[in-house]
Amino acid sequence: MSPYDFHCHSTVSDGMLSPTAVVERAAARGVRVLALTDHDELGGLAEAATAARQCDIHLVNGVEISVNWGKHTLHIVGLGIDPEHVVLRDGLQRIRSGRTERAQLMAAGLAKVGIEGAFEGAMRFADNPDMIGRAHFARFLVEQGRARNLQAVFKKYLTPGKPGYVPHQWATLPEAIEWLHAAGGLAILAHPGRYDMGKKTMNELVEIFTRFGGDGIEVGTANHTPDLVARFARLAESFDLWASVGSDFHGQGHYGDLGQFPPLPDYCKPVWQALGVTLPAEVPATLP
Ligand code: AMP
Ligand code: MN
Ligand code: MN
Ligand code: MN
Repeated sequence: MSPYDFHCHSTVSDGMLSPTAVVERAAARGVRVLALTDHDELGGLAEAATAARQCDIHLVNGVEISVNWGKHTLHIVGLGIDPEHVVLRDGLQRIRSGRTERAQLMAAGLAKVGIEGAFEGAMRFADNPDMIGRAHFARFLVEQGRARNLQAVFKKYLTPGKPGYVPHQWATLPEAIEWLHAAGGLAILAHPGRYDMGKKTMNELVEIFTRFGGDGIEVGTANHTPDLVARFARLAESFDLWASVGSDFHGQGHYGDLGQFPPLPDYCKPVWQALGVTLPAEVPATLP
C-alpha cells in the first residue's frame, strides 16, 4: 500500500464511485496524496477538492488524455494542471465530442453478432452520458453473461478487430503534452505495460515522448508485475523521466484498489518530488 496514488477514476468518466466517494475511500485506505484523473474530463475535480479538504487528503488536479499514436491508443496522465486553463479545456472538449456517435456504432457492431440493446444497456452504467465508453459497454456485457469478467469481455468484443470496437479520433501525442504543459501540469505516460507493442516500439515511443517534452512514466501501476516495474523504472532512468505511481482504480474489480500497486525501486525519481508535495512527517513512505 502506498500513501500516494496519482491515477484513478470517478463517475465523471468510467469509474463507479462519485468523486466524493473516491476521495473518502482513498482516505479510509490510508492514501494521503491523491490525483483524480478522469478520462478527457475535468468535471469531477471541484467536488473531489471539497471532499479532500474534509478528509485531510492532498488532492492533485489530474486528467487522463486519450491519444492516437499510429495504430495504438495511448493514455497520457496529466498531474498538477490548472483545470480552468482554456487550452486544456478546449482540447479536451474536442476529443470528448463524438463519443455518443461512436457508442451507437459500437452498439450496431454488437447487434450484428446478436447482441441487441447495447447502447441503452451501456448507458445505464454511464453516469455522465457524454463520456459513454468501452468500460460501460463492458459492464453491460458482463451483466448479460456474454463473458465471465471484464478482461474476457474486452478480449471478445471491445478490442481492435472485434465486433464492438470502433476507433475514435483522440489527441495526437504532442497535442496532449502541449495542453498539459500549457495548463502548468506534468505529462505522464500511463500504464506502459498495458500497450500491445514490442520492446523496440516501446523504446521508440518513450524516446519520442521525451523529445516532445513528456515528463514521466507510470512505473508502479496495478497490473505491472515485478518484471514490468523493473523494466519501466530502468526506462524512466535512462530517459531521465519522473516515475509515477497509481492504481487506475475504477471501482472494485476494475484494475487496482486505491493505493495498491508495487512500490518504486529506490533509484527512481518519484513524481511527488516534481509536484512538490510532501507527506506529513508521521506518514511512512510505504503503508503496511
Ligand atoms: P474508451 O476510452 O471508451 O476507449 O475506453 C477505455 C477504457 O476501457 C479504459 O480506460 C478502461 O477503463 C477500459 N479498458 C480497456 N481495456 C480494458 C481491459 N482489458 N480490461 C478492463 N478494462 C479495460
Ligand atoms: Mn477507464
Ligand atoms: Mn488508461
Ligand atoms: Mn485510467
